[in-house]
Amino acid sequence: MTDQYAVFGNPINHSKSPQIHGWFAEQTQQDLSYLPILAPEDDFQSSAERFFAEGGLGANVTVPFKLDALVFADQLSPRARRAGAVNTLQKGKQGMIYGDNTDGVGLVRDLTNNLGLSLQGKRVLLVGAGGAARGVVEPLIKAGVGRLKIANRTPEKAQQLIKIFHGLQQDSELSAGNWRSLEGSQYDLVINATSASLSGDLPPLPQGIFAPGALAYDMMYAAEPTSFMRWAQQEGAEQVADGLGMLVEQAAEAFFLWREVRPATQPVLQRLRHQLTEG
Ligand code: NDP
Repeated sequence: MTDQYAVFGNPINHSKSPQIHGWFAEQTQQDLSYLPILAPEDDFQSSAERFFAEGGLGANVTVPFKLDALVFADQLSPRARRAGAVNTLQKGKQGMIYGDNTDGVGLVRDLTNNLGLSLQGKRVLLVGAGGAARGVVEPLIKAGVGRLKIANRTPEKAQQLIKIFHGLQQDSELSAGNWRSLEGSQYDLVINATSASLSGDLPPLPQGIFAPGALAYDMMYAAEPTSFMRWAQQEGAEQVADGLGMLVEQAAEAFFLWREVRPATQPVLQRLRHQLTEG
């Protein structure tokens, strides 16, 4: 029987994951199917239980179920536990469900492999403290960033993240604050992990935050540059990027966990970008 995988979300029609995993499977000649599953907002558990009981081997989990998936998993990777979110589930021995979080690895791979950035010693500003931000803090610290500042509309949530990740790597200096606390500082990398771009909004960041040569990264992706990317360009960021590469890289990491085969991400990213811009 063909091995079965899926992505759970609500809504789910917009998801590019079935296409990405379909291309990975084709490229690596793996016999698998990967389907989108619309789970009821208030009952992720029943949908996930049914999927695994009917033979499903692994699943991705997207908005709004990453916390439900954390609770659903019998066993968690340390990075998923610290992130407080699961985006990848895998059926293990004796039917145990293993939960992991590949979002952060996906971001770091996109930054380093696709965009050619070295993170070692860099001054990084992470804007936002929601699910996506939580998932990327640990991999950024482990990649050796020099300073990581987390700023959020609700600054207490940024403070909480600092408490969780404090002491993970001694060489990285961690701090948190509100928008005003950013005045007068410069960063080599500014990551927008807020959902503001979804509604064409911008987090109210002060002027002058981009250091010479800085990269502005928006986790959101779209056919056109996002509001954050346009603002960053006006503000003098040397390079701007959206989160399509992160999406493909987190998928590749999940695929690797499930199949122990690492797909080439560049051709898939190029194909997806072409599809996104050409419609
Ligand atoms: P959450 O709802 O968990 O968090 C939203 C965050 O955005 C919070 O920090 C919230 O602040 C902040 N925020 C929302 N609106 C505004 C605003 N108008 N101004 C300033 N801050 C705002 O969302 P996620 O973390 O799951 O997702 C965030 C983004 O990341 C989305 O655009 C999503 O599409 C993208 N993403 C991309 C991925 C990829 O692979 N490329 C993977 C995962 C996410 P507060 O705490 O004050 O409410």
